[in-house]
Amino acid sequence: MTYLDYNATCPIYPEVIELMSEVMKTPLNPSSVHHYGRQARHIVETARDQIALLAGCQAKEVIFTSSATESINMIMQGYAKMGKPILAGAGEHSATLKSLDGLKTPIDFVNYNHNGLLDLDDLEKKLEEASEPGLLNIMLVNNETGVIQPASEAIKLAKQYGFTVHCDAVQAAGKLAFSFKDLGADFMTLAAHKIGGPQGCGVLIFKSGTPVPKLLYGGGQERRQRAGTENVAAIAGFGKAAEIVRENSLKYEEKLRPLQRKLENGLREIGGNAVVIYGEESSRVANTTNFSIRNIPAERQLMVLDLEKIAVSSGSACASGSVASSHVLKAMGASDDEALCALRVSTGWASDEKDIDHFLSVWSEYIKRQQKT
Ligand code: PLP
Repeated sequence: MTYLDYNATCPIYPEVIELMSEVMKTPLNPSSVHHYGRQARHIVETARDQIALLAGCQAKEVIFTSSATESINMIMQGYAKMGKPILAGAGEHSATLKSLDGLKTPIDFVNYNHNGLLDLDDLEKKLEEASEPGLLNIMLVNNETGVIQPASEAIKLAKQYGFTVHCDAVQAAGKLAFSFKDLGADFMTLAAHKIGGPQGCGVLIFKSGTPVPKLLYGGGQERRQRAGTENVAAIAGFGKAAEIVRENSLKYEEKLRPLQRKLENGLREIGGNAVVIYGEESSRVANTTNFSIRNIPAERQLMVLDLEKIAVSSGSACASGSVASSHVLKAMGASDDEALCALRVSTGWASDEKDIDHFLSVWSEYIKRQQKT
């Protein structure tokens, strides 16, 4: 198996699996007052500390949730219910773009430019036009292109207009050094499974003193900010993964940047001018390459690659399965036809040169056959 779809989900680190298996052997509810409850509380608080260190925030600013989607929905729906104007980057994940579907509250989108960056001039225009200060949602790293967004500048601008800012850092964690405190956002979201932890576990980080809108009602967990018994094993796994990626942040860049270069040089050698690499003029994280080759639909490429046991993705995982072209690439100016030919290759902690060689050799064979017909 050649797994090149880390932006959809990462393989879980063996140390994380080991820890979670151990934790699951005991009945652990952090709200219980007995010995096991105290043990559970200790596990959860250790993970909170580990995640706070990775994100550059205080442990008391971290709330555990069931997913990044839940964290994003908490903020988006909370501000929509307060009647606040909502702005979001045009290339946000569907967890943001569709979070208000049930409420029918409109989102005003901020353009992306052809390099895949949030357009700061358009942002300023939309901030000026807003009827009152509201909520701005931006990403730190785009999940489809890997483009690093001008988040710091966008946050400074939004603050001048009194806006609250939520930053989706799901695809930045473990790939880029950042600090919640230095960025100056009010809220931030991370997901365990994008850094080698388990699926179904996320955090919402909030600036100390900022009221956190509630999505779920029930028990008094997470200092009454998020009801529902904590998933102790997943939280332990998230904490461990956060510790691993923090300790290996330099190795990540050193290991994955050469693989990205090798892949992109290979794509150009094989496809020549017919290949477009999205966002290549911008700073991108080392693990993501999104590209298309003219007139060869991604769906056909995916099938051929899958038969050879190569896992990559077309656009974002949540959008695949449908024939809709990527909203991110379209926001960057790609045509429907071009966007339908785009593939995303994303690497991670267990990737190596053999994976890239395997991908390039299978892809090259296929493209040569297509070019002959
Ligand atoms: N935000 C970004 C940037 C993502 O890439 C994803 C998942 O792909 C999400 C949010 C949603 O994460 P989850 O599906 O784990 O809730």
